[in-house]
Amino acid sequence: MRGPSAESAAIIVRNWRRVQEAVAEACQASGRPPTAVQIVGVTKYVDWEFAHQLSNAGCSQLGENRPQSLWTKLEQWQTSGTSSELSPQWHFIGHLQRNKIRRTLPAIVRLHSLDSRRLAIALSQEAVAIGRILPTLVEVNVTLDNTKTGIPANELEDLLTQTADLPGLRIDGLMAMSSFGAQPEAARREFAKVCQLRDAMQQRFSGQLQLSELSMGMSGDFAEAIAEGATLVRIGTSLWEGILDTH
Ligand SMILES: *Cc1c(COP(=O)(O)O)cnc(C)c1O
Repeated sequence: MRGPSAESAAIIVRNWRRVQEAVAEACQASGRPPTAVQIVGVTKYVDWEFAHQLSNAGCSQLGENRPQSLWTKLEQWQTSGTSSELSPQWHFIGHLQRNKIRRTLPAIVRLHSLDSRRLAIALSQEAVAIGRILPTLVEVNVTLDNTKTGIPANELEDLLTQTADLPGLRIDGLMAMSSFGAQPEAARREFAKVCQLRDAMQQRFSGQLQLSELSMGMSGDFAEAIAEGATLVRIGTSLWEGILDTH
């Protein structure tokens, strides 16, 4: 990866447009308006300058999966003094340890990856302390792949029962990943399972929760996820073509 330049900015603009078009096409193919799906640009592969260029290209929602790399980017962003025309909103999409909450929570607009009652309680407490209500998704593991993160589907109802009333969180949907290396049809079946699970929980917790969001789909499978109702897609690799592989 070379440093940021006018050339890298132009590549990133092209990538951003291409991804937006592909997402819009997937929406159209499944009869959904293009506004139904928000793209979270995942910046974990690149230095903050490239994330900044993506933000300037018009990608207003950025995602990181490790607290330290989120903090580092924000620090560099701030100390650089570069003002973005558009200041991005950050999503946290990875496993969050409780001792990282204090520094992470003020920086993010949404957590995609709630995976335990203890984390929910600690997050809610801190959110209340700083006067926030954090939009939060529960990460579910619908694959048979034990290495994946998230809670098993059969534990979701219990977790929601224990966390639905926490004052600092607004749990408003689910997040999931497809099995590593899954073929498109297999990924689509997994996303369909997530959507069914959401529908079942919406029934079960009607009046208590509004589970309107589904965060699913990455560079390799966002079309399948959109076909199954994704409202947030988390896209990294496709946005960094020509950046990551330039020497
Ligand atoms: C890295 C990452 C993504 C982006 O994946 P790509 O295949 O690079 O688009 C999405 N979600 C999570 C949780 C990630 O860690």
